[in-house]
Amino acid sequence: MTDAASYLFYQSRNPRPFLDYGEGIYLFDEDGKRYIDGSSGAMVSNIGHSTPRVLAKIKAQMDKATFGYRLHFRTHPSEDLAAKTVAMTPDGLDRVFFVSGGSEAVESAVKLARQYALTQGQPNRHRVISRFPSYHGCTLGALDLTGYDPLRAPFAPMMEGMPKIDAPATYLDRDNLTEEQRGLKYAELLRDRILEEGPENVLTFVMEPVGGASTGALVAPDSYYGRIREICDEYGVLLIYDEVMTGAGRTGKFLAAEHWGITPDIVAMSKGFGAGYAPLGAIIAGARIVEPVLDSGGFQHGFTYAGNPLACSAGLAVLEEMEDQGLIENAAKMGEVLMAELRALMDRYPFIGDVRGKGLLTAFEFVSDLSTMEPLDPALNAYERLVELAYARGLIIYSRRTRGGTAGDHFLLAPPLIITEAQI
Ligand code: PLP
Repeated sequence: MTDAASYLFYQSRNPRPFLDYGEGIYLFDEDGKRYIDGSSGAMVSNIGHSTPRVLAKIKAQMDKATFGYRLHFRTHPSEDLAAKTVAMTPDGLDRVFFVSGGSEAVESAVKLARQYALTQGQPNRHRVISRFPSYHGCTLGALDLTGYDPLRAPFAPMMEGMPKIDAPATYLDRDNLTEEQRGLKYAELLRDRILEEGPENVLTFVMEPVGGASTGALVAPDSYYGRIREICDEYGVLLIYDEVMTGAGRTGKFLAAEHWGITPDIVAMSKGFGAGYAPLGAIIAGARIVEPVLDSGGFQHGFTYAGNPLACSAGLAVLEEMEDQGLIENAAKMGEVLMAELRALMDRYPFIGDVRGKGLLTAFEFVSDLSTMEPLDPALNAYERLVELAYARGLIIYSRRTRGGTAGDHFLLAPPLIITEAQI
């Protein structure tokens, strides 16, 4: 007899148990075992699982209409969610375009930038600079911006090969610079690259304001953010923040950009925006970008499911829940508690080389030598083993092989924003 599982495939074979139900920060398998969802799945379940008020609002929409194509009808959920999103977002970002996921959001942001450049009479602008390491998605366009070789390698001949600059891996950088100087040093890499490409050819710079799966919650020195904005402005390069992971309150602000008072030209969001209640994402941009594109004949881009009323009703309910429960403030507060606990572990275990993050997007990594930050020997499989040990004990944590693609080099801890101090 063929096991039903053999009909389905993802990246690899799936040894995990069947999920039964979720409740708050917990997930339960069909044997009744409870797991703390310590990474909110893939940094998705920001408001926790099965929140009754959210389910009721989705159900109410479900009873009316689950789909009405946007070219045939306006819908209240989509317009209300756009309005709510703008209200929660800093000034200057006031147009919203819906998608169903993070890769879609990143590609939409880049394509909007491209059409905007055309309206400005700048048809040469097409190069998209991003960082290494980085993760921006798995579709071919988003993958071309992704700085992660194992994912890129099989598809390299099918992509243009967009330029990359080094992300500010400050904890590895052993020069004698101050934090401020180091931030500026890494930001200036962008200027060098723009000049190398020819400023007239550069369309956008795309960055994760706080690293996710790529750099493990890496936060750049404060000086980095402002200087990047200045350099983009100087050369007329649009700044795209990929807030697919950091947006929707994860870092203790609605957008991570708010920590540095930066207004990107376009923001990509997903993950916590639908919070696992619906596949949902968005780009948010200023009217000064969007209106010329609409005036020039429209945005030549759109996905069938974009803006569907069911997903948007879920998104709206999620944002309302965040606001009503003060979850963004809780993320900031609980983030400090979690970071303090992780730092305390550093004192106990000398192989924890770094603890970092912002709000409830936190990470720690193992080293074999604290003085050089030399990673643990990949052959030890330490990351995989700890993930499995934790899983066996009912704690889900997230690890990804990134540094050079040969070794897992950090764990991400990113529980739902509803978490309490006692649960941490
Ligand atoms: N951008 C960032 C920063 C991400 O973390 C991810 C997913 O991990 C993506 C884009 C891609 O999102 P999705 O997997 O929903 O396509």
